[in-house]
Amino acid sequence: MIEIDGSQGEGGGQILRTALALSLVTQQPFTLANIRAKRSKPGLMRQHLACVQAAVAVGGGETQSHAIAQGGGPVGLGSSHLVFQPGPVQGGDFTFAVGSAGSCMLVLQTVLWPLVMAAQPSNLVLQGGTHNPMAPSFSFLQHVAPFFVGQGSAFFSMTLQRHGFYPAGGGEVHVRVQPPSDGLAAVELMERGDLIEARAEALHAGIPRSVAERELGVLQRALGWRDDQLHDRGLRSNEGPGNALQVILRYQHITEVVTAYGEKGVGAEEVARKVLTEVKDYMAHQAPVGEHLADQLMIPAALAALQGKTCQYWATTLSEHSRTNARVIEAFLPVTFDMAPWKEGYLVRTSKA
Ligand code: ATP
Repeated sequence: MIEIDGSQGEGGGQILRTALALSLVTQQPFTLANIRAKRSKPGLMRQHLACVQAAVAVGGGETQSHAIAQGGGPVGLGSSHLVFQPGPVQGGDFTFAVGSAGSCMLVLQTVLWPLVMAAQPSNLVLQGGTHNPMAPSFSFLQHVAPFFVGQGSAFFSMTLQRHGFYPAGGGEVHVRVQPPSDGLAAVELMERGDLIEARAEALHAGIPRSVAERELGVLQRALGWRDDQLHDRGLRSNEGPGNALQVILRYQHITEVVTAYGEKGVGAEEVARKVLTEVKDYMAHQAPVGEHLADQLMIPAALAALQGKTCQYWATTLSEHSRTNARVIEAFLPVTFDMAPWKEGYLVRTSKA
């Protein structure tokens, strides 16, 4: 039984998601105490409970996975402790609904790797938020998915049926997972190459179009971008209300997606300035892997390392989130993450322990 302390490091929901994913991959049970202890509302929230339920569902082979709370009862909203017993992972058709505007992309983060390592392909229907703060958006994942794969062939594809924004939710994403027959390829991301395309997209649904125009205007004035780099993406009004401003920077060897979200009481200019700061920071750097991709690459890099492939990438920064994720991965898999400062960023190398 692996014992994980949910209050370590970042002390958030990522510890739960990584532990569920790797418990299913390795078939090792675990206990998790102090779930999300460092968040203002600790314990399982609806989005995290959806992740636990999804993990139980995909581990439904001969012996069904199960999760129990401290004292033996069922896990529920607010649970701060759980015991997870994984069952064999079987690919298949699954529908997972968060049941709120919580991010359904974080549910995908939980079940993707077990399903990638399964013997059968899967089709997923994910319902909930598709574009949420504090989570990879559908657009982010779609653009960075090729970098999980290294030189190997794509092992999942996604289509967006409906956008879902906080607080209304209601989004839907379909995912096809095709486990790679020859295992995971090494991940090596050490340079950006030339900038091929830079574009901004203002997504808006059920809110005045002028919000998008103001956001794009701020970016245009500050970055000197041409009109054809700015995209006003009005969505069906019943997909809202919602607003996301995203910038996509496509280089030869990497794509970065920077996003900020509009919300009540936050001006369009403020949303745009948030994106602008992150875009300028990223463009001023040379490392290919941005802060969020740095933590999301860790599981595929570790799984490839298990198969004897050394993975390395140069990250602009390493968040507490990444460091915590590395520790949780090392608790499940015989791999080591070497994370050393390197050229104004960090070099992350993953190899078999
Ligand atoms: P909680 O405890 O509330 O669930 P958490 O610690 O799990 O929080 P975060 O630290 O916010 O959540 O991160 C969740 C995941 O979302 C991480 O994998 C992180 O890389 C990713 N993420 C957060 N913000 C972005 C963003 N702007 N773009 C892409 N990915 C993001």
